Amino acid sequence: MSADIIRKPTGGVKIRPHLTDYAAECRNFSWAAARAAIDGLPDGGLNIAYEAIDRHVQTGRGAHIALRWLDKQGAAHDFSYFRLRELTNRFANVLTDLGVGRGDAVFALMGRIPALYLSALGTLKNGSVFCPMFSAFGPEPIHQRMSIGQARVLVTTAALYARKVVGLRASLPDLAHVLIADLDAHAPAPEGTQNLQTLMAQASDTFTIAATQPEDLALLHFTSGTTGRPKGAMHVHEAVIAHQATAGYALDLRPEDVFWCTADPGWVTGTSYGIVAPLVIGATMLVDEQEFDAERWYRTLQNEGVTVWYTAPTAIRMMMKLGAERVRQYRYPDLRFMASVGEPLNSEAVIWSNAAFGMPFHDNWWQTETGGIMIANFAACDVKPGSMGRPLPGIEAAIANLDEAGRLVFVTEPGEQGQLVLRTPWPSMFRGYLNEEARYRKCFIDDWYLTGDLARRDEDGYFWFVGRADDVIKTSGHLIGPFEVEDVLMEHPAVAEAGVIGKPDPVAMEIVKAFVALKPGVKADEALRMALLAHARKRLGAVVAPKEIDFLPALPKTRSGKIMRRLLKARELGLPEGDTSTLEENA
Ligand code: AMP
Repeated sequence: MSADIIRKPTGGVKIRPHLTDYAAECRNFSWAAARAAIDGLPDGGLNIAYEAIDRHVQTGRGAHIALRWLDKQGAAHDFSYFRLRELTNRFANVLTDLGVGRGDAVFALMGRIPALYLSALGTLKNGSVFCPMFSAFGPEPIHQRMSIGQARVLVTTAALYARKVVGLRASLPDLAHVLIADLDAHAPAPEGTQNLQTLMAQASDTFTIAATQPEDLALLHFTSGTTGRPKGAMHVHEAVIAHQATAGYALDLRPEDVFWCTADPGWVTGTSYGIVAPLVIGATMLVDEQEFDAERWYRTLQNEGVTVWYTAPTAIRMMMKLGAERVRQYRYPDLRFMASVGEPLNSEAVIWSNAAFGMPFHDNWWQTETGGIMIANFAACDVKPGSMGRPLPGIEAAIANLDEAGRLVFVTEPGEQGQLVLRTPWPSMFRGYLNEEARYRKCFIDDWYLTGDLARRDEDGYFWFVGRADDVIKTSGHLIGPFEVEDVLMEHPAVAEAGVIGKPDPVAMEIVKAFVALKPGVKADEALRMALLAHARKRLGAVVAPKEIDFLPALPKTRSGKIMRRLLKARELGLPEGDTSTLEENA
């Protein structure tokens, strides 16, 4: 734990941050009061898209810019709340006209283009369930998610459809409609698909939002575990209460802000805080189609007048590598608050940012299942570099271990390590893993949710991340299940066994590394290594595929035949086989 504390000024700030009295706010907070701050549909019910768009038009803020989209060339395209209402109404009408109804799953596979945002919000207006996927996924992860989620509609681009989806159509019997989002309204759509622009142009721009109830399913986010297929974490419309409350507390967000969340909506941060939260608050959200480029990012922060910036440690580490001088070539007079999420943000990065930008990145913690930020360093509170911060008002977090009978034993000593657990419920908590009740139930003991992360709490109540309690891999912010990668490697005719681990990496935190034992008579050589890497990349996509493959004569296994990834990890780290400290097997 770091000794440096970044103190916050007690006066002289332009905008008084939220949560100046943390203890009082925690004492006085209630989710019922947070619920009262949400309007709800005029005729009853609760719908995320209404809270995000229509209610701002209702209250006279329709002309305010809701979305400023920067295309790849850097040109800005603005969408007011009024315009967003019209376009999402059209999208919802397209779904209705196609016979897509309440509870049907609408999947998206595209980069950060406006159609992604319109589809997400239009789907919610229609009472359907939105499921975003990373455009960098290969056909295998796409197929798994769409078949588990029984995708009824896919919104994608012509190129992604041709490269990754067309070959899967025959094995996706529920997929009734593929809508191609990036064609001109008059262009013909590929066979078996429809042109979204044409349909939108024909659809009405008025729509009566589905009277969804707080517990109705809204969003499906896939995440990975140590074993088995990806899990679809189910989120409901009530989550919007937490999105609004947490955006205020943890991101200090207000309606006047220009907010930039750099996360892709393919993962939960890019949806909860890259679509829903800023719009619910009534802010302007900035979306950049381009991938990370430090120079472009600094320019964007300066030129677009970004006031609140939410990004991730991998990008921060890349900026650090380029040096603080590059940061200082631009001016950020509007920037008020910077936050980071998704992986541990080490103390050096916090201290570096404080020197480079004149303010620190505020680390916060949450995961797909929690649906919203749970632990954070707040704008008004001192930052302990290297710490994830303290629980948000309304959230009770603790450190606990399991005894032999499977009961929780709470850690009371500051600094002692254990599993991070959260007391249920809160509005954005996942309501289950789709069709996997047993896997869902395993996440709870009594009324505590087990996060799967190991952590410590210090004497001031700040939480410090230690590691994962299981084998899942975090690479450049992406959570990867080793089993999914092993499965694809095993498809290759040369492979007898595969074991996949996260290998520590200074920039990506971990990279996906595979160990492979070959079938008898197959020669391990460079050509085969390249062939395996190419096979994995083609099937899984660049994000999930291993970056390194080592050949071993055999893989270490338990007596029951399960591959012992922690021994592979120990081998990789050069540790004695027994010394895997935080890497206890928890499969
Ligand atoms: P995901 O569900 O993909 O968002 O991944 C959630 C996991 O990312 C958590 O369980 C942690 O292991 C990790 N994570 C998220 N935020 C942080 C953070 N601030 N510090 C350390 N690890 C984090």
